[in-house]
Amino acid sequence: MIEARAVIVNSRGLHARPATMLAKRAARHKCEIVIRKGRREADANSVASLLMLVAGQNSELTIRANGEEAEAAVADILQLIAGGFDDDAVTNNPKLPAAPAVPQRKEKTKSARAPKKPMQKIYGVGVGESATTGEAHIRMPGETEVPRYRLSAGEAQAEKECARFESALRDVRAELDALRARAHQLPGAAEIAPFIELYRNLLDDPEICIKPRESVRQRKINAEWALKERVDIIRANFRRIEDAYFRERGRDIEHVMARLLAAMSGGKTPPRPAAGEIIVAEDLDPASVINLRRKGCRGFITETGGGMSHTAIVARSLGMPAIVGAAGALAAAENGDEIIIDPRGQMAVAIIRPDEAALRRYRGSLRARKKTPRKKVAGGGGIKSKDGETVFLETNIEFPGEVGDALRAGADGIGLFRTEFVFLNRDSPPPEDEQFEIYREVLRRAAPLPVVFRTIDLGADKINLADAEHRRAGANPLGLRAIRYCLAAPELFLDQLRALLRAFAESRGRGKILLPMLSSPAELARTVTLLRNAREQLRALRKLDSPPPPLGAMIEVPASVFVMRAFARHLSFFSVGTNDLVQYTLAVDRGDEKLAALADPLHPAILHLLASATDNARRAGKPITLCGEIAGDPALTEIILALGFRRLSMNASQLASVRGTVSGGDIGALAALRRRILAAPTPEAVRAAAKNANAKNKK
Ligand code: PEP
Ligand code: MG
Repeated sequence: MIEARAVIVNSRGLHARPATMLAKRAARHKCEIVIRKGRREADANSVASLLMLVAGQNSELTIRANGEEAEAAVADILQLIAGGFDDDAVTNNPKLPAAPAVPQRKEKTKSARAPKKPMQKIYGVGVGESATTGEAHIRMPGETEVPRYRLSAGEAQAEKECARFESALRDVRAELDALRARAHQLPGAAEIAPFIELYRNLLDDPEICIKPRESVRQRKINAEWALKERVDIIRANFRRIEDAYFRERGRDIEHVMARLLAAMSGGKTPPRPAAGEIIVAEDLDPASVINLRRKGCRGFITETGGGMSHTAIVARSLGMPAIVGAAGALAAAENGDEIIIDPRGQMAVAIIRPDEAALRRYRGSLRARKKTPRKKVAGGGGIKSKDGETVFLETNIEFPGEVGDALRAGADGIGLFRTEFVFLNRDSPPPEDEQFEIYREVLRRAAPLPVVFRTIDLGADKINLADAEHRRAGANPLGLRAIRYCLAAPELFLDQLRALLRAFAESRGRGKILLPMLSSPAELARTVTLLRNAREQLRALRKLDSPPPPLGAMIEVPASVFVMRAFARHLSFFSVGTNDLVQYTLAVDRGDEKLAALADPLHPAILHLLASATDNARRAGKPITLCGEIAGDPALTEIILALGFRRLSMNASQLASVRGTVSGGDIGALAALRRRILAAPTPEAVRAAAKNANAKNKK
């Protein structure tokens, strides 16, 4: 074994080009060469591992070679290092064009699979009231979607897979050679060339061209997945590097992977989820959930996300069972695996590759669900509690098609139509006429019941894709959302207001407007002015005299509770959105599953805000509704009633159980519960007080 030391002299250290030169030089010699910097060690043949040394100027390296040509190799490398890799003349700039978007190829090789993996259960937060089953469709994070499947147990398919990988390596090498040949005509040629060289060398890097093949042979997994696993490891190492330049090189490796994946896909388009499938993804946005439903997908599992996220809310209202915040689902499931989703109860579970016993257990409930007939219950007049108090139960909807569910469930009205869903999944906002048709249709279907139209609540996890600025701003719950977004885009807002007023003109006072996320009287004043302008425009342009519609404010920002009196001057009603009130009061992002335990609606601060809100509404003589997700939880109904709410709006599927709790309860007896829960110092104490009261009520 030969060992020598050297100090890096060139100013930018062992960056991409020198690392590439060193790896090439090492490959000329018949021996194994390891380079060390401190405790880090690199294979001299691997550009990726050389970069991970993060060897800047003046770094001391140890070169150790073992084998036939060890001496010559060490001498060669010492010379290269001492000469500073001829680095001064060359500029490095990571400007190589990014790889094209990578189409995903999905294959199901069920018949030729390796022995079936055992059943696995993944737990998370359940969304929905019923279990479902279907085949897994894996959607990998990010744009580079990577197909994942197992090969048959024998050697033949693994060898074929390695040949496919080899052919992709050849194709990408040829592609880069062609690019290199053209590079001198491109702007910035001098900067681009070294990066083409780097990519070209990464393709020969054992980490990228050899190790994945080993995984294919040993673990019988497809080549794309084997490559991705390798790249994930390298990328994770790069992410830990503090030096920004070296950290960025992790992206080069991703680009190389993307090119290889594109080559392996043979230019095929990504597979679309199909009817009957269950999507397994890191995350899904609400718009994707709508699309998946349209395609007939049965449910989904996401590794991230909370039960209060809009993704969960949309799934609930579409009747699409889901498990969110199910960490580990992507690693556990493979395309084509059978999956049962059971979102019910405290321990919502996804059963991947269920065994016979699990299938038997669920067969009954899956069949029973199909057979359950839907009974129509008449609604409109509220329901009476045992002691004769009237409580109104309404429903939340996102799509016009849900009005039917509300009527069948016996709702007293549509307490919240989240109109922003009309704006998702499209390139441009719906024009006024289109919106008018939709709103009129909702009012017609709901007749004779009232409908509360919440104005556009885009922002946070509901991004207006037609708006480039909004796309760039991304998902920020504290950002340009809801009424703020509308006031910043008055033309868009006016279109909606005119469409609503036109629809209301035909509905004899059944339409109401609700404003989301109001936090100050100034916002309300500007909205009232815009509403007046919209009425003026209709009078001038359409000769339409529209009366001022009932206007309401959502109470979902803590500040709004304290200015309800000022709001009340312009308003006819209030509606409390606890999903956001919890998020903004407790500083907990409602979409972050890691914080889900902190988002406790029984936190004393929330209960005090709710009690103040009902008090303020009563003093102002305005009705107040609770329309957050907790309104549909029968376990919380008594607490909500004790806090003074007599109008609750929820998902249609939750109405029957809440109705049962209300009609069986004695509301007069809840005054003591109110005192106790408002005196309770913790959510646990609130729960205990409620349990106690419930037991007494039942005696
Ligand atoms: C809420 O915040 O409670 C609410 C009903 O509105 P959304 O869930 O649409 O934000
Ligand atoms: Mg809200």
